[in-house]
Amino acid sequence: MPPGTVDTRPRGRWGQVLLTNHVLSGALIGALARRPLPAFAAGVASHFVLDAVPHWGEWGSPRRFLRVAVTDGLVSLAVAGAFAAVSPPDRRLAVLAGMAGAALPDLDKPAKLWFGRSPFPAAFDRFHMGIQDEAAHRFHVELLAAAALASAALIARSAPRRSFDRRWRRLAR
Ligand SMILES: [Zn+2]
Repeated sequence: MPPGTVDTRPRGRWGQVLLTNHVLSGALIGALARRPLPAFAAGVASHFVLDAVPHWGEWGSPRRFLRVAVTDGLVSLAVAGAFAAVSPPDRRLAVLAGMAGAALPDLDKPAKLWFGRSPFPAAFDRFHMGIQDEAAHRFHVELLAAAALASAALIARSAPRRSFDRRWRRLAR
């Protein structure tokens, strides 16, 4: 910024990892974990891993941010619905739990927009903001991630149970 000019940008950073990508990674985790509780926990963890990876951000003005965020929110809902629908019944709950866990930490964005405050403790939000690594020119990173995550999740959803799984169950009987 040139000296003598005033930074009129709103405080805070207008960007985030696309929620769609969080939801996709949650679906992948759910399909692999197969049980809802570990899927949920791993989903939450995956959120922070994705946020810490260099990603698209600094989307521009608040208006542009909102436009991207609303589109992204709708797409991620559609993605979540689609993955829930195509998941085999014995994995559906785990897939849903993985997606919910992966999306949960971003609940602060709509909450701030609609209610003016984050539902999380301040320390949590500071940590969440602190790990972001975003730049305006990285949209392709998000697209590549979406493509990779979507295909991985689709493959994992129907992958046969691993044989050690079966052996373990036989042992447990
Ligand atoms: Zn986040």
